[in-house]
Amino acid sequence: MIYKAYGYGKIGVKNMKVMNDDMLQQLKAGKNAIILAHNYQRGEVQDVADFVGDSLELAQRAKETDADIIVFCGVDFMAETAAILNPDKKVLIPDIGAICPMAQMLTMEELFEAKERYPEADVVLYINTLAEEKAYSDCICTSANAPKIIEAMDADTILFGPDYNLAKYVAKMTSKRIVPVPEYGLCPTHHQISVDDLLEGKEEHPEAEVVVHPECIMEIQEMADHIASTSGMVRYCKESGADEFLIGTEVGLIYRLRKEIPHKEFYPLSDSAVCPQMKMHTLEKIEKVLETERFQVKVTKNTAERAIVPIERMLELS
Ligand code: SF4
Repeated sequence: MIYKAYGYGKIGVKNMKVMNDDMLQQLKAGKNAIILAHNYQRGEVQDVADFVGDSLELAQRAKETDADIIVFCGVDFMAETAAILNPDKKVLIPDIGAICPMAQMLTMEELFEAKERYPEADVVLYINTLAEEKAYSDCICTSANAPKIIEAMDADTILFGPDYNLAKYVAKMTSKRIVPVPEYGLCPTHHQISVDDLLEGKEEHPEAEVVVHPECIMEIQEMADHIASTSGMVRYCKESGADEFLIGTEVGLIYRLRKEIPHKEFYPLSDSAVCPQMKMHTLEKIEKVLETERFQVKVTKNTAERAIVPIERMLELS
């Protein structure tokens, strides 16, 4: 099988390399490697992956695998989580430039300041944080399990970061007092999906259900028919009686939705909802990283030993 090339002209990243599937499979088998890919990856990357899923599912898969090498097609904090869960395995990232801007928005200074201000609070951090910050949290969460994790905490006040929109969502869904840290962390890709985009989409597709990610702004969440993590969105669209959906998240999910639910129609709320960092991985780079085993993701022993505690706690509570 020969893969088609998919272009992302809008953000100036293209993958025009054509790769032979058999070669890649042989390379993978020879090294006992697996490829894990996030739902936002390019279509052709999703096609070669052993598993495609959201952050929670990828962490679960990374923990379960008996492969020696994990090629992680996602962004830095996801690959770090896989490395923390697998200290004896090699976690490789095809492009080390795949750095999530949201994860950079929470600094240690802000976290320590907030802990000092609210000594009675528990700290729940979104998985979209770096290992250094995770190490000082009580539990990690993803968009798939955030309300459940928050409710399971002992404290009534929860320091939650870095995403402000997800913080507002969990404040609505739980009985806890949520204090966002930092005050306004966000995902640039989701934050730019506007109410006008939604109104235009509804005008074009009046029968479509609106399904959005909780990283979208509150106004979008309030107008949606359903709010879920990316894999939760896939499950919802499969089970819903509707035939058409307006999807409010990164456009990579549209590829998976169309592939897995071909008898239904999916439209992105915004064509511009492209995460440039997620699109950095290409087939050519996956092949290269497997051949050379370069770009190994490493977390210092001290940080990993601390960060694994709240990550494991999340996996248990999930
Ligand atoms: S979509 Fe947003 S949160 Fe996800 S990796 Fe890209 S910038 Fe980070």
